[in-house]
Order: sequence, then structure tokens, then C-alpha cells
Amino acid sequence: MTLVHKLPNIQDKFNIRGILVAQEPMWRHTTFRLGGPADLYAQPLDAEDLAQLQKMAFQEGLDLFLLGGGANLLVSDQGIRGLVADTRNLNEWRREENLVILGGGLDVSEAAWRTSASGAKGLEFLFGMPGSVGGALWMNARCYNQEISDVFEWADVLNADGSVERIPMNPNNWAYKHSPFQEDSRCILRCGIRVEEAPFSELRQSMVEKRNDREEKGHYRAPCAGSAFKNNRDFGVPSGVLIDRCGLKGLRHGGASVSQWHGNIVINDQGATSSHVDSLLDEVARIVEEESGFCMEREVLRVGDWQSP
Ligand SMILES: Cc1cc2nc3c(=O)[nH]c(=O)nc-3n(C[C@H](O)[C@H](O)[C@H](O)COP(=O)(O)OP(=O)(O)OC[C@H]3O[C@@H](n4cnc5c(N)ncnc54)[C@H](O)[C@@H]3O)c2cc1C
Repeated sequence: MTLVHKLPNIQDKFNIRGILVAQEPMWRHTTFRLGGPADLYAQPLDAEDLAQLQKMAFQEGLDLFLLGGGANLLVSDQGIRGLVADTRNLNEWRREENLVILGGGLDVSEAAWRTSASGAKGLEFLFGMPGSVGGALWMNARCYNQEISDVFEWADVLNADGSVERIPMNPNNWAYKHSPFQEDSRCILRCGIRVEEAPFSELRQSMVEKRNDREEKGHYRAPCAGSAFKNNRDFGVPSGVLIDRCGLKGLRHGGASVSQWHGNIVINDQGATSSHVDSLLDEVARIVEEESGFCMEREVLRVGDWQSP
């Protein structure tokens, strides 16, 4: 029996309350607007529902992939084998004095806005960056000379047995684009972020400036996943400058190209496939290494089934 036929039985057996569907196209859930179908796709309603999905995946022998805003993913054209759990409903927000408690699936811009509106400073730098709080923690998202680890206090993660564990801040476990959450695949259910009192008018201005700056830099002009490659201090200049110096702006593979406005932004501007983006990224890295000697590491995560023809 195929997964599609087993679906109603599985949903009942494990008492899954949120959406659970088969063959969901992942292009609907990525900022690149790319990616084939996930075998199973779920939107758990809360942590308990997610725990049941974890149990189901384990018992049915399915891999589980946690999806945030899909803003840093290149999902294969063949899609994702197993179960994708979309964290969007883990979207709590509350303030407790000098902490804000944020759900892992909460949109980071919404988190920043609501926090600022409560008269608390700390998250404005993330306003305008696509993605969820959980994804930002997983990636240790960084912009405007700040990283989310600068304000992180703790996170509650879901263990395989359904229990919840609190992970406190340990500066030794964080680095540029690295967080302790990359060491395993536990879901970040919620986190505590340190904030300070500040007037909303000031914070709002800072957020609007950041959003406008992104708009001017072309971040929202075409489907993309932000920076394609990580920066590296050893390069002496940002990866985008290395790419630009090699004359690669506008380089195209099928429907994907290096944007004309930023060397490190690869866009899906003419109906690309994920394979177009993937081969373009390989070529950009190869040319930059040949011409500069520097080996750039991809920032965009290659996810799903890249083995099937
Ligand atoms: C226009 C644009 C601009 C961008 N600008 C920036 C920028 O300035 N700085 C920057 O750092 N990034 C930037 N990015 C990249 C992206 O926004 C960040 O990497 C973001 O943090 C990804 O979050 P997400 O929720 O979309 O994660 P996803 O892409 O969905 O997932 C990323 C990883 O996090 C894991 N994950 C997601 N949620 C959870 C959870 N709750 N628990 C455990 N693991 C989880 C996933 O399994 C995956 O491994 C940009 C992207 C775009 C499209």
C-alpha cells in the first residue's frame, strides 16, 4: 500500500490533529519558489501534535525534515522523501519583563514588530529578513552587524521521546552561521530572547530603515534565498565582491542567474528548476576558486532527494 492510501489510517492511529497531506509541492513553501513534492507534509497544531508526528515518522520509518519559512533552502526538483513538518503554527509571542518568549515557527519580522511594539529593544535588526524564529536560531542569522546569538537566552527543544528540554545560552557553541541546533535535528519549540526597554517610535524607525535598505539592495526583487555563499574573513572582502570581480553577475543556467544587482544573490527569474540553481552555484564557486584561490562555502542548504534522476 502506498503512503497516500495509508494516510487516513496513519492520521487516526497517531491522532494527528493538524493538516497532513501527501505529495505537497515544496515550491509553495520556499522563497526560491522551487522544489518538488514532499512525500508527506504536515502542519502540526502545537508541540504535542509535533511529538505525535515524530512518533509516527519513527514507527513508519520516515525521515523527518523541519520546515521554517523555507528562506534558506534549495529543495531538489525530485522533492523530499519522508515527512516535512512545517512549524508555522508554533507561533506564540509573550513578554515577561526583560525577556520575550517566541515560538519557533513565528515569522521573525512579526516577532521583531510585536516585540518593538511592546516597547522592547533587541530584535529590530531582523525585521525584513524572511523566515521563522527557529530557522534564524538554527542558522544563527546575521545582519546589520548583529547575530541572533547576541540576544539569545534559551530554547526549548523537543526530544525524540516527546519530552521538552531547555537549552541555555553557551557562547562556546555559537559561531558565524553556526548554532548548537545544527548538531541534531530536534525542533526548537520556543526561545527566550533578552530585551531592553525602549520607545516604540525609535524602534519602528530602525525597522523601517532596515526594510527599506533591503528593498533598495534588491532582496525582494526576484525569488531567491538571500546570500548564496557564506562570507569568510580570510577572503578579505565579502563573497559577493569576489563573485563580482570574476564578472559573474548575470551568469545564467536555464532559468536561474546571478543577479545583476548583487553578486551573492542567485535568483529564479525565468522559471528555473532547482537543478539550474544547483549547477549555477557549482560553476560560480569553481570560477571564483580558479581566479582567486578562495573556496566559498554554500550558505543555502541543499535539501531533499538529489540522488534520483
Ligand atoms: C531576501 C532574503 C534575504 C535574506 N537575508 C538574510 C540575512 O540578512 N541574514 C541571514 O542570516 N540570512 C538571510 N537570509 C536567509 C534566511 O532568511 C535565513 O537563513 C533564515 O534564518 C532562514 O529561516 P527559515 O525559517 O526560513 O529556515 P528554513 O530555510 O526553513 O530552514 C533552515 C534550517 O533551519 C531548520 N529549522 C527551521 N525551523 C526550525 C525549528 N523550529 N527547529 C529546528 N530547526 C529548524 C531547518 O530544518 C533547516 O535545516 C535571507 C533570505 C532571503 C530570501
